[in-house]
Amino acid sequence: AFLKTFKLKGFKSFARLTTLHFSPGISVIVGPNGCGKSNLVDALKWVLGEQSFKSLRSKSSEDLIFSGSEKAPPLNMAEVSVVLEQHNASEIMLTRCVFRSGENRYLLNKKHCRLKDIKDVLLNMGFGLKNYAIVDQGQIAYLLEISPLEKRRLLEEAAGVTKYREKKEETLHKIQETKQNLLRIEDILGEVE
Ligand code: ATP
Repeated sequence: AFLKTFKLKGFKSFARLTTLHFSPGISVIVGPNGCGKSNLVDALKWVLGEQSFKSLRSKSSEDLIFSGSEKAPPLNMAEVSVVLEQHNASEIMLTRCVFRSGENRYLLNKKHCRLKDIKDVLLNMGFGLKNYAIVDQGQIAYLLEISPLEKRRLLEEAAGVTKYREKKEETLHKIQETKQNLLRIEDILGEVE
């Protein structure tokens, strides 16, 4: 899937409606410290279904809603939408809203839906939160420092090899158990004969 459009309104420091259009290839967002670059990453994680406030550098839903500035009063809701383009060129629009009460709303192509529906759509597109789609600053340093063995483990997980490795381990364990059982049966047979 390709991230085509990203819209924010009332999310953290983005009080006014802000729309970003991405073109195929690499996009870079630059700006001075504190201008809201990381808030954009938080917004992206959030609209993709993130439930952990810690991961969004917040303590509660209220921290996600524009809290006011010298120029603008606080807002009562935050809304973020993304348009994702699928391989077959069809587009899908995901929206998430939150109110000061803490109530969240999710929309799929502008129709109300459950968080689970958003998660299912993303899983089907191979675009999950835990799929290393979003790599934060700390993770880059971590990736540079870890051992080759650990790097291989992460690559295998990203490539989807881990689940087969786990299944192999399970099967080897079962074979071992069956071998033990066979030995026991042979013993019993020996005694009977
Ligand atoms: P750095 O390069 O230092 O990481 P950055 O561009 O990533 O900076 P962010 O962390 O995205 O900056 O933005 C921080 C700014 O967002 C701060 O000025 C903070 O006051 C503002 N901010 C965060 N939450 C809210 C909110 N709920 N309402 C208004 N402003 C907010």
